[in-house]
Amino acid sequence: MKITFPHMGNMYICVRALLEYLDLDVVVPPPTSKRTLTLGTAVAPEFACLPLKINLGNFIEARELGADTVIMAGGRGPCRFGYYAQIEKGILEDLGMELKMLVIEPPQKSVREFLQEIKDTAGGKSWWTIIRAIRFGWEKIKAVDEIEKEVMRLRAREEKTGVVDAVYREALQAVDRAGSYEELKGAVREAKERLAAVPLRKEEDDILRIGITGEIYTLLEPFANLDIERKLGRMGVEVERSIMLSEWIDEHLFLGLARHNHGHETKRAARPYINHFVGGHGQETLGSVNRYWQQGFDGVIQLMPFTCMPEIVAQSVLPRAREELDMPVLTLIVDEHTGEAGFITRLEAFVDLLRHRKERKREGKLVVPVGRA
Ligand code: SF4
Repeated sequence: MKITFPHMGNMYICVRALLEYLDLDVVVPPPTSKRTLTLGTAVAPEFACLPLKINLGNFIEARELGADTVIMAGGRGPCRFGYYAQIEKGILEDLGMELKMLVIEPPQKSVREFLQEIKDTAGGKSWWTIIRAIRFGWEKIKAVDEIEKEVMRLRAREEKTGVVDAVYREALQAVDRAGSYEELKGAVREAKERLAAVPLRKEEDDILRIGITGEIYTLLEPFANLDIERKLGRMGVEVERSIMLSEWIDEHLFLGLARHNHGHETKRAARPYINHFVGGHGQETLGSVNRYWQQGFDGVIQLMPFTCMPEIVAQSVLPRAREELDMPVLTLIVDEHTGEAGFITRLEAFVDLLRHRKERKREGKLVVPVGRA
């Protein structure tokens, strides 16, 4: 069995670690590129959401490298994610590509059921080995998140553009290569030391803080979001992502066992606007806007693929939140037709607007409303 999986940002680092720990033969798809998207778009239904098209492109490219089995997460609730595996399987079969699909469903009833699915995939490995493999993958993704948070903070402050990203690239490679906890700790320690040594600009006043929220895949996959975090960082913006990969994995697959309270707090903050599950992270999008407002952020960007159902619901409620909180929110919708030049222009215009507001606040010319907590 040669096993592959879809890309979603740096998720490949933890999935590869987990699968290789179980002695499985892993084919990591080539990094998502224009070719990936073109391959996926050519075979996907036109109005399918962007992640499905990119997933298909990943599988086709992995198949070219010899993969014969796909492992992916399942989903539930009122959005299309729950159907992805079945639809992708059907499309690949129609193309004459026989790929076995192993779907790890979110453990709605029992964590044991979920672990059993992994055990079946691992083919005869002991429970102890499986738990250790999951733990190793988990530690890797926590390490990546820790490094990423610091990278997002420092990009806006670096003296010479690109230094932080060079360290970041090498840090990811070191985490990916680490074959033991010792090596992993060493990789994180070295990344932190190198990031701490990056020369920074003196001025802090003009640094803006923007929270990025919205649909999870678009948030986590730089190819899908046109590398928005790096673009904003280089415009002098400190970015915070509303959900990190470890938080998503904890909430989606581990039932919150890793004790991330993030999801509950965000849902609580969404109550004045949306007080029930609408699929995906639609509810959390509103909660994030409220939380970013409470934390004094300068603005929020909602990212979503074209036709994303939960985010369309969130988008329809956003004007009320924006008005009550007086929080600037920019919605960016992406699909295979999104052009980079237009995307950058919108980002620059938004950043200019936020700088202007910040200036007026500093001069006492902008009255900030009380809003709703
Ligand atoms: S959350 Fe949106 S983009 Fe993701 S699967 Fe659901 S509808 Fe598609």
